[in-house]
Amino acid sequence: MFDHYCSFSVLRPLLASQKVTCIEVVEELLQHTHAQKDLNAFVNVYDQEIVENAAVVNEKIKQGKGGPLAGMVVGLKDMIAYKNHPLQAGSKILTNYVSPFDATVTERLLAADALIIGHQNCDEFGMGSSSENAYFGTVLNPLDKTRVAGGSSGGSAAAVKAKMCHVSIGTDTGGSVRQPAAFCGLVGLKPSYGRISRHGLVAYASSFDTAGIFAHTVEDCATVLEVIAGPDLFDDTAADRPVPCYTHLLDHPGRYKIACLAGTLGNGGLQTEIKEHTLHGLELLKKEGHQVDHVHFSLLKYALPTYYILVNAEASTNLARFDGIRYGYRSNQATTLEEVYIKTRTEGFAKEVKKRIMLGSFVLSASQCETHYVKALKVRNLIKKAMQDILGQYDFIILPTTTATAFRVNSFANDPLSMYWSDLYTVLASVAGLPAISLPNGVDQKKLPIGIQVIGNYFEEAKLLTFACHFETIIK
Ligand code: GLN
Repeated sequence: MFDHYCSFSVLRPLLASQKVTCIEVVEELLQHTHAQKDLNAFVNVYDQEIVENAAVVNEKIKQGKGGPLAGMVVGLKDMIAYKNHPLQAGSKILTNYVSPFDATVTERLLAADALIIGHQNCDEFGMGSSSENAYFGTVLNPLDKTRVAGGSSGGSAAAVKAKMCHVSIGTDTGGSVRQPAAFCGLVGLKPSYGRISRHGLVAYASSFDTAGIFAHTVEDCATVLEVIAGPDLFDDTAADRPVPCYTHLLDHPGRYKIACLAGTLGNGGLQTEIKEHTLHGLELLKKEGHQVDHVHFSLLKYALPTYYILVNAEASTNLARFDGIRYGYRSNQATTLEEVYIKTRTEGFAKEVKKRIMLGSFVLSASQCETHYVKALKVRNLIKKAMQDILGQYDFIILPTTTATAFRVNSFANDPLSMYWSDLYTVLASVAGLPAISLPNGVDQKKLPIGIQVIGNYFEEAKLLTFACHFETIIK
């Protein structure tokens, strides 16, 4: 049978000439989805609805009236609102919650004629690096089912890799798009903070949260970003800047100056093959005529503590709204109002989330605020300034995406701190709010994908994507 699964840029002309119809594409992807249920990538698949929508969109394509994403099958992380559909953020506490509105991202995807296939499994409220903290169970890596798909947007990565959808929209607070993309051998884009509206995204840490894109190619990322980015009246932090035509700019890479942060490759915890592949990638860039310098950066070791202090603080306040009164789950064991709050939250949140709420409340408490929260804010500023200084002199910063390739399920069950350390390279762009993209950069001896990360300057997604598109072909 003809495999209808390919990147959207390849599929689009086939749809336009009706060599393939949207319905055929959707049916095939639904088949892949149901045949690989064991991966646990989806929490809800909207079978009937997507087939109906595919028929409507196919008619539009026939009449030459299809939108820019007509026929693209997209999955949404279970943190992104879709009107009249369940939304649980991977948590028991949102049991039976149905979103009464569309996230801005969802609204824009639908307006562009994308076809939404379902909601994807993730770590509870986006808190995790392996999708093992998921109320709906661990997501498995399609390339090796004994291993994790990464997190927190693990289901979104697994679904694209396993050919269940062309693209997924995840959220990235400290690496949740880039890290699972690296673990599954995909492209994962986290744009600048504020490039995409957060309206309708379940909040984890509001000053870090960004929507992000999983795809097979940089071009597909650009195609989607063009549609979902831009100002939004519902989100004051969505930047009031025009959205360039990213896809039209991909063909003209220049000669670039690239910084490699000295400390990143010297880190003893870095898997040797990742170091080697990163150095090899940099060598290839030099051969293409780009300038690559190793640049001193002394703040790397502060990025992770800063990140975890601040995100826990923000999470502890964001998650205060889940009280059994307004949304979702309510304990039926409570007899007083206070018991409703306590029992609902005790039963509704799992261990990792409770731990983070407690840590967040601790760093915000009167006696700790100055020494923890306020200090972390100051360090965040130092990191931002240092990164900006580097990006004043260089076009991009290149570093590995992860310290190791996809690990086995349960590897860190008794060692949460090591799991946190594995986020070392992704939190840097998040703390600074800079755009970053992870690209597949070969495989290790076990044939597990390796990711390489490129960080660009604020709102320079056009330049970042252009470079990434060029780099993608060099390292392929
Ligand atoms: N692993 C990181 C955390 O647990 C990042 C998660 C994310 O980006 N949502 O905070």
